[in-house]
Amino acid sequence: MKIRVALLALLVSVLPCVSGVAGDDTVGNPSAAAAQKVRVLVVTGGHGYDEEPFEGLFRSMPSVEATFKPVNRAFRDPDKWQWDVMVLYHMPPTISEQDQAALLSLLDRGVGVVGLHHAIAAWNKWPEYWKIIGARYFLEDAEEDGKPWPRSTYQHDADIIYRPVKPEHPVTAGLDAFTLHDETYKGYRMEPDVEVILEAEHEAAQREAGWVHQYRKSRVCYIQPGHGPSCFGDANYRKLVEQAILWAAGRTGSNPKEEARTGEK
Ligand SMILES: [Zn+2]
Repeated sequence: MKIRVALLALLVSVLPCVSGVAGDDTVGNPSAAAAQKVRVLVVTGGHGYDEEPFEGLFRSMPSVEATFKPVNRAFRDPDKWQWDVMVLYHMPPTISEQDQAALLSLLDRGVGVVGLHHAIAAWNKWPEYWKIIGARYFLEDAEEDGKPWPRSTYQHDADIIYRPVKPEHPVTAGLDAFTLHDETYKGYRMEPDVEVILEAEHEAAQREAGWVHQYRKSRVCYIQPGHGPSCFGDANYRKLVEQAILWAAGRTGSNPKEEARTGEK
């Protein structure tokens, strides 16, 4: 019990710099914390997109307060980071060593990550990013451990059925199978530790279409669909992404690694 109290005190002292929750009334008061919006930094750049409907996706979320930044400015000063979750919707080919260190320091602090659509192919030659996002999308033919991996593929304007496979998971809770008119991806390699929560049904789509895992102290969720306005305005997609943000922020569900530790006694 004493250990728990000490742990709680430690958590309370650490929380403000991780989640940015300011003020003693909010910290440690679950109902007040739940009422506070999740602060999200949406990272873009390196790939075109329809800006207004994309920003509308986040403005539609009652529990989210979103800020938008291009990737070349997003990780410039991690000590002044003030967001609970980063939504990655970027796809630059490379990342500087400085940005690598900044990103990893944020993941050591438990900042949540939600990756959308083409973010799977960002920073394509940085192996650590494959581990962070949970998969490797091949922009060109490659070989890993003697196994050839042909270039991953995509198809625009497909009508894809998305099916939650773990309906009890907070990211897909309350969602039935739904259809989106969007772009498929296929042929990416999954990292072994991810938990698939959403599957796609289309011949040009890879089955794994959404997954969660933990990287360092951060919860990470990747969602494959998200090419354009037909997604951004869709009620099911909006719900999916908002629930992913809430989960990545630690507002819902539990953290798999912490669960395992608690079970050890
Ligand atoms: Zn796309």
